[in-house]
Amino acid sequence: MKLFLILASLVLLIVFVFYQRSKLAKNKVVRVISDNCAGCQLCVKKCGAKALGMEERENGKRIVVNPDKCTACKNCIAVCRFNALELVNRKQEEYQQSFLHNK
Ligand code: SF4
Ligand code: SF4
Repeated sequence: MKLFLILASLVLLIVFVFYQRSKLAKNKVVRVISDNCAGCQLCVKKCGAKALGMEERENGKRIVVNPDKCTACKNCIAVCRFNALELVNRKQEEYQQSFLHNK
Protein backbone atom coordinates (compact mmCIF):
# COMPACT_ATOMS: atom_id res chain seq x y z
CA MET A 1 0.00 0.00 0.00
CA LYS A 2 2.80 2.39 0.95
CA LEU A 3 4.61 1.62 -2.31
CA PHE A 4 1.41 2.26 -4.27
CA LEU A 5 1.00 5.67 -2.63
CA ILE A 6 4.61 6.61 -3.39
CA LEU A 7 4.23 5.53 -7.04
CA ALA A 8 0.91 7.37 -7.39
CA SER A 9 2.49 10.55 -5.95
CA LEU A 10 5.39 10.25 -8.38
CA VAL A 11 3.05 9.85 -11.36
CA LEU A 12 1.02 12.87 -10.22
CA LEU A 13 4.18 14.92 -9.82
CA ILE A 14 5.38 13.99 -13.33
CA VAL A 15 1.96 14.83 -14.84
CA PHE A 16 1.98 18.17 -12.99
CA VAL A 17 5.49 19.06 -14.25
CA PHE A 18 4.53 18.19 -17.85
CA TYR A 19 1.33 20.22 -17.55
CA GLN A 20 3.22 23.27 -16.22
CA ARG A 21 5.82 22.97 -19.01
CA SER A 22 3.25 22.70 -21.79
CA LYS A 23 1.31 25.62 -20.31
CA LEU A 24 4.48 27.74 -20.28
CA ALA A 25 5.33 26.73 -23.86
CA LYS A 26 1.84 27.70 -24.99
CA ASN A 27 1.88 31.12 -23.33
CA LYS A 28 5.50 32.25 -23.52
CA VAL A 29 8.24 32.55 -26.12
CA VAL A 30 11.80 33.85 -26.21
CA ARG A 31 12.57 37.26 -27.66
CA VAL A 32 16.05 38.52 -28.62
CA ILE A 33 17.13 41.94 -27.40
CA SER A 34 19.28 42.63 -30.45
CA ASP A 35 21.03 45.67 -28.97
CA ASN A 36 22.52 43.46 -26.22
CA CYS A 37 23.43 40.50 -28.41
CA ALA A 38 27.14 39.86 -29.01
CA GLY A 39 26.51 37.15 -31.62
CA CYS A 40 28.40 34.44 -29.69
CA GLN A 41 25.75 31.81 -30.64
CA LEU A 42 25.96 30.03 -27.27
CA CYS A 43 22.18 30.14 -27.16
CA VAL A 44 21.91 28.46 -30.57
CA LYS A 45 24.10 25.58 -29.37
CA LYS A 46 22.12 25.25 -26.13
CA CYS A 47 18.66 25.15 -27.71
CA GLY A 48 17.66 21.50 -27.98
CA ALA A 49 14.47 22.43 -29.83
CA LYS A 50 16.50 24.10 -32.62
CA ALA A 51 14.36 27.20 -32.26
CA LEU A 52 17.27 29.64 -32.59
CA GLY A 53 19.42 30.43 -35.58
CA MET A 54 21.68 33.08 -37.07
CA GLU A 55 20.33 34.89 -40.11
CA GLU A 56 21.70 37.49 -42.45
CA ARG A 57 19.56 40.63 -42.33
CA GLU A 58 19.95 43.98 -44.05
CA ASN A 59 21.66 45.36 -40.91
CA GLY A 60 24.00 42.38 -40.41
CA LYS A 61 23.76 38.93 -38.83
CA ARG A 62 21.07 38.45 -36.19
CA ILE A 63 19.83 35.74 -33.86
CA VAL A 64 16.28 34.82 -34.82
CA VAL A 65 13.68 32.76 -32.94
CA ASN A 66 11.31 30.27 -34.54
CA PRO A 67 8.33 30.65 -32.19
CA ASP A 68 6.73 27.43 -33.47
CA LYS A 69 9.68 25.45 -32.11
CA CYS A 70 10.33 27.37 -28.86
CA THR A 71 9.18 25.45 -25.77
CA ALA A 72 10.01 28.31 -23.36
CA CYS A 73 12.46 26.06 -21.48
CA LYS A 74 14.74 29.07 -20.76
CA ASN A 75 17.98 27.12 -21.43
CA CYS A 76 19.13 29.82 -23.84
CA ILE A 77 18.45 32.57 -21.30
CA ALA A 78 20.55 30.70 -18.75
CA VAL A 79 23.64 30.62 -21.02
CA CYS A 80 23.43 34.16 -22.41
CA ARG A 81 26.00 36.33 -20.63
CA PHE A 82 24.83 39.51 -22.29
CA ASN A 83 21.27 39.64 -21.04
CA ALA A 84 20.09 39.51 -24.64
CA LEU A 85 17.20 37.07 -24.28
CA GLU A 86 13.94 37.33 -22.42
CA LEU A 87 10.76 35.33 -22.04
CA VAL A 88 7.71 37.24 -23.21
CA ASN A 89 4.01 36.75 -23.74
CA ARG A 90 3.56 34.68 -26.93
CA LYS A 91 0.40 36.42 -28.18
CA GLN A 92 1.90 39.87 -27.65
CA GLU A 93 5.09 38.85 -29.49
CA GLU A 94 3.14 37.36 -32.42
CA TYR A 95 1.10 40.54 -32.66
CA GLN A 96 4.23 42.73 -32.65
CA GLN A 97 5.97 40.55 -35.25
CA SER A 98 2.96 40.61 -37.59
CA PHE A 99 2.78 44.38 -37.13
CA LEU A 100 6.49 44.75 -38.04
CA HIS A 101 6.15 42.49 -41.08
CA ASN A 102 3.17 44.47 -42.40
CA LYS A 103 5.00 47.79 -42.06
S1 SF4 B 1 23.96 33.82 -26.14
FE1 SF4 B 1 23.15 35.91 -25.97
S2 SF4 B 1 24.79 37.21 -26.80
FE2 SF4 B 1 25.22 35.11 -27.48
S3 SF4 B 1 24.22 35.00 -29.51
FE3 SF4 B 1 22.75 34.26 -27.99
S4 SF4 B 1 21.51 36.07 -27.50
FE4 SF4 B 1 23.38 36.80 -28.47
S1 SF4 C 1 13.50 28.86 -24.47
FE1 SF4 C 1 14.28 26.78 -24.88
S2 SF4 C 1 13.25 26.17 -26.79
FE2 SF4 C 1 12.98 28.39 -26.61
S3 SF4 C 1 14.70 29.24 -27.81
FE3 SF4 C 1 15.39 29.08 -25.66
S4 SF4 C 1 16.43 27.10 -25.47
FE4 SF4 C 1 15.21 27.09 -27.37
